[in-house]
Amino acid sequence: MEKKIDIKSLALEELEEELRGKGQKAFRARQIFQWMHEKLADSFEEMTNLSKDLRQQLSRDYELVTLQKKDVRISRLDGTRKYLFGLSDGHVIESVLMKYKHGNSVCISSQVGCRMGCRFCASTLDGLERNLRPSEMLDQIYRIQKDTGERVSHVVVMGSGEPLDNYDSLIRFIRLVSDERGLNISQRNITVSTCGIVPGIERMAQEGLAVTLALSLHGPNDQVRKSLMPVANKYPLKEVLSACSTYFKKTGRRLTFEYSLVKGVNDNLREAQALAELIKDQQGHVNLIPVNPIKEREYVQSDWHAVEAFKVYLEKKGINVTIRREMGRDINGACGQLRRSFMEDIR
Ligand code: SAH
Repeated sequence: MEKKIDIKSLALEELEEELRGKGQKAFRARQIFQWMHEKLADSFEEMTNLSKDLRQQLSRDYELVTLQKKDVRISRLDGTRKYLFGLSDGHVIESVLMKYKHGNSVCISSQVGCRMGCRFCASTLDGLERNLRPSEMLDQIYRIQKDTGERVSHVVVMGSGEPLDNYDSLIRFIRLVSDERGLNISQRNITVSTCGIVPGIERMAQEGLAVTLALSLHGPNDQVRKSLMPVANKYPLKEVLSACSTYFKKTGRRLTFEYSLVKGVNDNLREAQALAELIKDQQGHVNLIPVNPIKEREYVQSDWHAVEAFKVYLEKKGINVTIRREMGRDINGACGQLRRSFMEDIR
């Protein structure tokens, strides 16, 4: 069977082109776009301002990607919701809704699994299964907004997967989710987190987007980074930080430097000192994350006073620092953990 076109991944202009090819007017494309991306329709049948014939033709010719909610766990501590979604080929992915004072933020996956191999991360233990399509990234947000009945205002591409390893779909996703004729989430409220793929960062700097880039640093030098993140063997810190400067210069968006604190590996004051030195010329702030231990690895979370001391040191050096508040600790909140426990149950 020929594969149907994934209609939810098309930009409005592409959809207009498609509809023109079927002898339809451009405004039909706008109606369909609105049904998919603003009204969050689950099927062509719902699109009641289109003729029955056209709706039938659409379902013959196109695939309307909708994820299947398999499970949701709601934290009793902070209302965080962790969703498990099924894809049409049987894979499962996870997404998280976090409720903040400033709005509802959804953390989405960009790939099924991951091939970056970071030592402390559960998403990468079985490698990469496949990339997600733009529609599959969008629908994580659409399902959650429909499920809660509350508007999603912020998106972080910080779930399973390396977004810059799925570059074209990522960019398409960002344009669609921020399209004012769709969900219209401001690009300023979108953050993309990367382990530091230099060509991807440089390319993204040229896209004319206003999204925030978060760099997973996790070490103040190549040696520590290499021990935690295999990608550091490919891209030395010097090049990664120079790409970050380019990103700031081109977009005006200040960066976030993520630093997961692992006891005895990267959390003493020598490392804080090296970190301060490393980023002193960068425009951005540091987000400290006490590492979330996974059972497959030996890594241990830094003690509270080590985290505090690290923070205070950076602040003394004039660096903006936050400690990431842990959300949904009671519901397998860390990347890839819920999916893994689900896969273990069905094996
Ligand atoms: N591949 C991207 C985005 C996904 S991971 C990246 O590397 O940035 C999102 C963030 O969570 C990254 O900073 C990642 O290093 C971090 N992370 C993954 N597993 C973690 C764990 N067990 N504890 C703390 N941080 C973790």
